[in-house]
Amino acid sequence: MRKVCILRLGHRPERDLRVTTHVGLTARALGADGMYLAAEDHGIVDSIEDVVERWGGEFFVENNVKWRQCIKQWKEKGGIVAHLTMYGLEVGEVVDEVRERPEDLLIIVGAEKVPGDVYGMVDYNVSVTNQPHSEISSLAIFLDRLFQGQEMDHKFEGAKIRVEPCKVGKRVVEL
Ligand code: SAM
Repeated sequence: MRKVCILRLGHRPERDLRVTTHVGLTARALGADGMYLAAEDHGIVDSIEDVVERWGGEFFVENNVKWRQCIKQWKEKGGIVAHLTMYGLEVGEVVDEVRERPEDLLIIVGAEKVPGDVYGMVDYNVSVTNQPHSEISSLAIFLDRLFQGQEMDHKFEGAKIRVEPCKVGKRVVEL
């Protein structure tokens, strides 16, 4: 199975702690393998690793990456890159093609303004509507379209706890 990772650009430690953590948690929950963070923020690494430790799976977070180098190395290793942006081609137009490609996939999401070079360095600029919204919503929808809903059945190996779904109330079991 090919690898699918996220590259988070533009993270501002003092402002984006919650959103970037949620980018990582969304990526993990919806079947991605890991997140590269183009900023130094050990708090984010710690909080996502803590979730992985308790809820299982193999998701990694690497902070302090140089984004240009990350994209370059990904491509040198034969991977492809998709950038989620409201200026890209509509997800419905490109997602089948992206899914059918066998190469590892790096998905870029921004925070505030994404450097202009990114738009020309990637294989696909992909929009989830051409309206402005959020990196969390666009990532969630893109991953769901990419994996065609199969990510919902993902098993998180090595979990210490898991939810026992119930219609009324809430139940968490320790394993
Ligand atoms: N104005 C910023 C820009 O031009 O780059 C966008 C800021 S937006 C709050 C943060 C991120 O959400 C973007 O970098 C992009 O990854 C994602 N995003 C926002 N709207 C999107 C859309 N309609 N389709 C895909 N991604 C979107």
